[in-house]
Amino acid sequence: MFREMILSVADNPLVAGTVKRYGLKLGASRFVAGEHVADAIAVTRQLQQEGIGVTLDHLGEGVSDAANADAACRSYLELLDALDREHLPGNVSVKLTMMGLAVDPALGFQNTRRVVERAAAMHGPEGPTGFVRIDMEDSPYTSDTIDVYRRLASEFSPERVGLVLQAYLYRTRDDLAALSDAPRRLRIVKGAYREPPALAYPIKADVDANYVRLVKQAVEAGHHVAVATHDELILRDLLQYFQAIRLPRDRYEFQMLYGIKLSVLRELARAGHATRVYVPYGQDWYAYFSRRLAERPANILFFGRALLRR
Ligand SMILES: Cc1cc2nc3c(=O)[nH]c(=O)nc-3n(C[C@H](O)[C@H](O)[C@H](O)COP(=O)(O)OP(=O)(O)OC[C@H]3O[C@@H](n4cnc5c(N)ncnc54)[C@H](O)[C@@H]3O)c2cc1C
Repeated sequence: MFREMILSVADNPLVAGTVKRYGLKLGASRFVAGEHVADAIAVTRQLQQEGIGVTLDHLGEGVSDAANADAACRSYLELLDALDREHLPGNVSVKLTMMGLAVDPALGFQNTRRVVERAAAMHGPEGPTGFVRIDMEDSPYTSDTIDVYRRLASEFSPERVGLVLQAYLYRTRDDLAALSDAPRRLRIVKGAYREPPALAYPIKADVDANYVRLVKQAVEAGHHVAVATHDELILRDLLQYFQAIRLPRDRYEFQMLYGIKLSVLRELARAGHATRVYVPYGQDWYAYFSRRLAERPANILFFGRALLRR
């Protein structure tokens, strides 16, 4: 209910205009590394020194013409070039509507393919370092996203391109079963968009229970699983489960969003688990920021107070 409300208020042009004007200074910077590649690289280096990996997201989504989709694709190619120059792993997360999926699925595929091709060519002293995770967006794009992922994973290898699945969707259990025809790299999240009860569990406890079920289903099917949640109860349960079944440490990692519960991730890293922070950067931060506000009432209060003071 809270998420529904905040996400619909965020669509309001007056709200969007005001927040875009002051937002980065007043609060969005907690969740966004900065506006430029250099900001993202600085954060990547810092986290790397602590033994924590990074996946970089150049913010943007819902691109509505081919020229902007091409520009978005080039921004990712430039990011990968920059990471290569800096001898940093080319681990990025991509939204297909930024690559043009909503304009034309073929365009979305071609642009994403260019990004995966560039990442797949990246090598460090210990082997390939490039990896593209395809983020999952709202439900109108679920099937096309899985389709693009499948084609790219079969062309470049499931080691170089991964997918995200959302626990709030009823369909995910079946999607996961269908994807279990090969070992893959799957990130499991609860889901961040506004979805109708016909498609998604409306009650949080059901999403949470499905989250745990899906992670177990993915592990049992032999996938590499990125457990992407800040939910400490779920993390505790899953850690116990991983230990009980003696899951090798190279079969999973823990992922969190930049600005949220880094101390918990640090603890996991210190205990020897693979960890990664999702670091977004860029000028188009509004939609991402709205979803972060919608996840937690305290964020909206904090941001609202800062805006009023201004
Ligand atoms: C690495 C990563 C990648 C993601 N990729 C996608 C994607 O591709 N598609 C997609 O739909 N969603 C994605 N998400 C978002 C995800 O779907 C959830 O919306 C988000 O993670 C919040 O849910 P939670 O699992 O942390 O659980 P919740 O039950 O929502 O939160 C658990 C606890 O975490 C803390 N917390 C959660 N969110 C916030 C916040 N915004 N601010 C402060 N504290 C917070 C609170 O203490 C809360 O009690 C991603 C999340 C992560 C971590």
